[in-house]
This record gives sequence, structure tokens and C-alpha cells, in this order.
Amino acid sequence: MKTNDIRRKFIQFFESKQHTYVPSASTIPIGDQTILFTIAGMTQFKSCLTGEEVRPYKRATNAQKCIRVGDLDDVGKDGRHCTMFEMLGSWSFGDYYKKEAIQWAYEFSKDELKLDMSRFWATVHHSDDEAFAIWRTMGVPENRIVRLGDKDNFWAMGPTGPCGPCSELYLDQGEHVGQCYEKGLKCSGPGCDCDRYLEFWNLVFMQYNRQEDGTLLDLPMKSVDTGCGLERLTALIQGKTSNFDIDLFTKIKEKIIHTAGIKSPVNDISSQLKVSCNVIADHIRLLTFTLGDGANFSNEGRGYVLRRVLRRAVRHVGKLAPNWPKDKSFLENIVATVIDEMGEFYPEIIQNKARIEDAIRNEELRFNSTLESGLTKFQHFIEEAKLKNKKILSGENVFILHDSFGFPSDLTQILCEELGFKADLEGFKKHMQEQKERSRAEAKFYKFDQDDSTWIEFHPANPLSDKKFAGYNLVFNNT
Ligand code: ATP
Ligand code: MG
Ligand code: MG
Ligand code: MG
Repeated sequence: MKTNDIRRKFIQFFESKQHTYVPSASTIPIGDQTILFTIAGMTQFKSCLTGEEVRPYKRATNAQKCIRVGDLDDVGKDGRHCTMFEMLGSWSFGDYYKKEAIQWAYEFSKDELKLDMSRFWATVHHSDDEAFAIWRTMGVPENRIVRLGDKDNFWAMGPTGPCGPCSELYLDQGEHVGQCYEKGLKCSGPGCDCDRYLEFWNLVFMQYNRQEDGTLLDLPMKSVDTGCGLERLTALIQGKTSNFDIDLFTKIKEKIIHTAGIKSPVNDISSQLKVSCNVIADHIRLLTFTLGDGANFSNEGRGYVLRRVLRRAVRHVGKLAPNWPKDKSFLENIVATVIDEMGEFYPEIIQNKARIEDAIRNEELRFNSTLESGLTKFQHFIEEAKLKNKKILSGENVFILHDSFGFPSDLTQILCEELGFKADLEGFKKHMQEQKERSRAEAKFYKFDQDDSTWIEFHPANPLSDKKFAGYNLVFNNT
């Protein structure tokens, strides 16, 4: 089964259970100050879950294009995180509850997708005896149902609003899969931060509305919100251990390799080059979809996130195609393939093709010229250090390169190492912190800090000014 077939099958299954199909919302949330991007299928249904809005349907299903920049650092390191992915979803707004949600997720996995249920595991919130008992009635053995705490099994989109305990579906990909195995460690089972036990579906039982002061009030009605990662599901069905090895990515990766002038097939390139290829494939999808939804590159907020994602992709182009001319865009060449693969379901990227390609080309060329002037500044700092008989680049210099020339600190570090120098990364962090504190303004809103995976306060007039909001980061794990 191909990715496109699985998406269709999911929607049809829930339509057959009287769910109304609702098209994907934009990746750019409209009228929601609390998030920069749409991070889950439920984003567009928030008001239905709180009861503020009543729609003609009580059951919904869809495939939502999601952006989670908080997962950026995992891309390439593990096989299960993308920064842009599709979430298949089903909802009950005060209609059915735990029993049907669990039953249908199990039935779809077992009977429709024919997943190997001998490798199946479920998790429930440690307090949720009801969900535990329902899994038992499905025939899942007791020792395959794991009770986990808030970190894994309590879901909320933000510091306030609808939330509740959840139950997740996992498949064991085998003892030779995952980072624990690679490091010779024993994997602790579902909930371990490694690829072996793959979480593919989250069933959230929305029953609380969290208030500003943290108290949990009962919602006027109990609802269900489920989210299932299309790329992960497809990988399981296609027998792959990485999202990036599913059919949807094949042509995109081939195009990247071909453009880079590499003659060998994608599967034969070194593992380091594979990481670069996956990162580029991931980032170009994010850029195609967000630019297609009207976002722009800029120096603050959302546009700054896009800028950083593009720069990261360009650095990986440097690894894959070191001789790529700096006055030509590499990334714009890949957009058409992403559109060929995904445009049928998301026609907005077809309609906005020229806009997407133009924006990516301009930004990439702009970054290349910044990089050149940054390199000149870097050389200047090195000469200064040499004059002082120092083999270390100061935190202030690393900060200036970051702040004014867009040099990520790890790039500066690599350049330093090549010359037998060290970069003072501790000092750099101090300068970053000072800058954050300088721009800290009266905070009124909360948003998820995609870098630090924690909630921060921000001022709408200056979305980059931030202040850690320590109270919730243990409870809210979902980016
Ligand atoms: P993980 O623990 O693996 O980071 P999560 O618990 O953060 O996943 P949820 O918020 O529960 O994920 O989202 C519902 C589903 O969406 C997950 O079960 C998974 O299938 C999928 N998903 C979440 N994050 C990603 C991602 N970065 N890339 C691809 N699929 C994802
Ligand atoms: Mg999880
Ligand atoms: Mg989850
Ligand atoms: Mg996550």
C-alpha cells in the first residue's frame, strides 16, 4: 500500500463510522496567538472541543499538514521525526468516548491495515483504569498495556485549554532497531526515546479545560481527539524503519541526489550523506507547505523559523554537493518533485508553485552571500585571536557571527576546529541569554519554544522576545 492509499483508507474508514471529512487547515494558524504553526489535527477544532462552537457534525476526520520545528534536531538522528508531517485524525465532539475510540483504532490497525498485532503494545495514563480495561476487552494481554505518566500520556496543545489523559498505540519494530540497540543499551519499552517501539497513534480523551492558574475544570462534554502519523504508519506497513524510506520520499530523495550530481543510487550512499539527503527532503517539504500557505521569510517570529530551516538545509547541500555554485539555488529544483508527490491531495502547493520557488531561490542566494561576508568576518576574528596568541574564538565573536551573519554556532565550531581553534560555546550561550533578557518585554501570551521544547511567554508585538515559563514544561510534552 502506498502513502496516498493509506491516507485515503483512513479517511474512508472513519467516514464509514459516520465521521464528516474536514479538509486540512493551513499550516499557519489563523486567529490563534498561542502557536506559530499548526502542530496537530486538533488545532482547527479547538473551539469545538471547548464547546464554544457547535458545528453541524459531532464526528470528524481528516489528514492535517503539521509543522513541529521542535523536532528539528531529531531529523536525521532518528527515523521517526519529521518537521513537516501529516497527521491522520478522528474526533468526537461530545459524542462517543473511550470505548469506540480504542475499538476503532485497534480495528483499523488490525483488520484494515493488517499490522502484525503480535508486535502490538498500548500505553495508558497511569490513572486510567477504564482505558486499561477497554484494551483488555480488545484481547490485548495485560503485559502489553503499559501505564505511563503525564510526560507521555497527558496531552494538551497549550498551557491553557482542552486537555486530558491519552492512550497510545505502538508497534515493536524488533530488538535490532533503534538508538538503544545501536548504543548497546537495553530499551525500556514504549515511551523510550528510541525508534524500536514506534508510537504511531495517540488517542486523547479530552475531559478538562485547564485554567490560567493551572486548575483543571471539567469540560462541558467529554470528547475524543486522535492523531496518527501518516509517515510512521506507512513505514510500518512498508516494512521500513524510517519515515524517510517510505514511497513518498523516494522520488524526492532521488531528485536531491541527482541534482547533487551523485551517480550512485540513494541506498548506496554513505550514512552521513543519507542524513543530509533526509534533512534536505524534510526541510524542503516544510518550506514548500508553509510558503504555499502564505508564510514569508523574515527576521522575526515565524519567518525567522523558516529562515533557520532553510539555512540548515543549505548547510546540508554543502555536504552533499560541495561544489554547488553559490550563485545558483539548489533547493528550488526540488520543489517541483515535492509538488508532484503531494499536490494531488494538497492542491494549494500546485497553485503557489511559482511563489514557493521564487521565495526559496531568493532566500538561498541571500544566505550564500551572507555566508561569504560571514566567512570574511570569521577570518578577521581568527587573525585577531592569533595576534593575541589565542587558540580560542571568544563567546562574543561567536555571538556576533550568529547574530549579524546568521552563522549557527555549530558551523563556527566546525570552522574553528578545521584551523585547530576552539569556539567558546559557553560564552556564546551567555551572550544569547543576555540578548533574550534585553528584549524581554511584558509577556502576555504563551507559545511553545520550538528550540527548547518548553512553554515561553511572548509579547505579540515582539514575538521573538521570550521568557521561560517553567511551570508547565513537565506536563506538556507535545510540540
Ligand atoms: P513522539 O513522542 O514520537 O515525539 P508525540 O508523542 O510527540 O510523538 P503526538 O503529539 O502524540 O506525538 O502526535 C500524534 C502522532 O503524530 C504521533 O503518535 C506520531 O504518529 C505523529 N507524530 C508526532 N510527531 C511527529 C513527527 N515529528 N514526525 C512524524 N510524525 C509525528
Ligand atoms: Mg510520544
Ligand atoms: Mg504522543
Ligand atoms: Mg514529540
